[in-house]
Amino acid sequence: MCPEPEVPAAAGAGEPEIAPLSRDLTSYPTGLLLPSPGSDATPAEPTDELEIRRCYRKAAAIHKQVRAYARELLVPGADMLDAANKIEGRLRALCGAEGYRTYKPDDPGYCAQAFPLGLSVNNCAAHYAPLIADNHVITTRDVVKVDFGVHCNGYLIDSAFTLAYDDKFQPILDASREAMNAAVKAAGVDVSIAELGNLIEEVISSYEFQGKHLCPVRNLTGHQVDQYQIHCGKAIPNHRGGRLRDYGRMSAGDVFACETFASTGKGHVSDEYPVSHYMVDPGALGLSKGFIKGSETSKRILDLLRTNFRTLAWCPRWLDGMGEKKYQLSLKQLSDSGYINPYPKLCDTRGSYVAQFEHTFMVSEWGKEVFSKGDDY
Ligand code: MN
Ligand code: MN
Repeated sequence: MCPEPEVPAAAGAGEPEIAPLSRDLTSYPTGLLLPSPGSDATPAEPTDELEIRRCYRKAAAIHKQVRAYARELLVPGADMLDAANKIEGRLRALCGAEGYRTYKPDDPGYCAQAFPLGLSVNNCAAHYAPLIADNHVITTRDVVKVDFGVHCNGYLIDSAFTLAYDDKFQPILDASREAMNAAVKAAGVDVSIAELGNLIEEVISSYEFQGKHLCPVRNLTGHQVDQYQIHCGKAIPNHRGGRLRDYGRMSAGDVFACETFASTGKGHVSDEYPVSHYMVDPGALGLSKGFIKGSETSKRILDLLRTNFRTLAWCPRWLDGMGEKKYQLSLKQLSDSGYINPYPKLCDTRGSYVAQFEHTFMVSEWGKEVFSKGDDY
């Protein structure tokens, strides 16, 4: 007789079954409503851009549940790669996403991850998603930026917070969070965006760490978002020098991700490798297969990337999750040919610490709706 076949463990085995959140977009709560600068009146329930608001509200509801779970997992002693896989697994389950697929415009209620979960540690400010070979175990000496996105019908929430396990880091976190809150509060229709940079630097530089004033990271900015587009249009500078450039003014209907970075280092980030974030180049999105140069494997991988992610960022670890093997050479070929673009880690000076907070909000004549605002930040 034959031995009993072994039942393969399902992905996330041992985890409770997580049901997707409701597809009824009217069932999600309104975000935090703030008046325009200079007014104290609490805004009435918004009636403008309602269809779009409802998509942002659902994405925000998922973001809040996932970040509460991330807070439980990302503790000293935790394996960062393992935590990243679990957090992203929870996110996909709550979205009801089709595996790793993030882009699906023919399904108007489609919800998915908007870009890889960033877990950037200490002097690394942004753009690190654990690679498959990552063996970092979180310690009490770590300052971890947790930055991830959720979208509903392409309307994406980009929101981030910072975890630290030693109270001495609290001023760095406070500086970044208070600067973000001040900038969001000061945002509004016709507001000069350069002035927000002034405000951000003023708040951040009023905090100290070990007797030295903190500084904002000058070459990172907040940004406008649009459907299936993480960075578009206007930027929100993090520093006073932003006055020297025309950052424009905010308009009704604009959605911004305001993100502020407080640093104990130079306040300037540089590229570091290896790369964990990529996007398909816009020029490669419409190319027919016959015009693509490279090996058959590279062409197949590019097609896979275009179909599953299109304009949205992705990380190599997701390809492992999709059952792809030996894709490294293809990623190099595709990157060398300009079909995909790498986004390296962005790090301040060695030994420094950077904290980040980020909220996504819509600007209206009557004020702002801060979609990603929660009880936590
Ligand atoms: Mn972000
Ligand atoms: Mn952002």
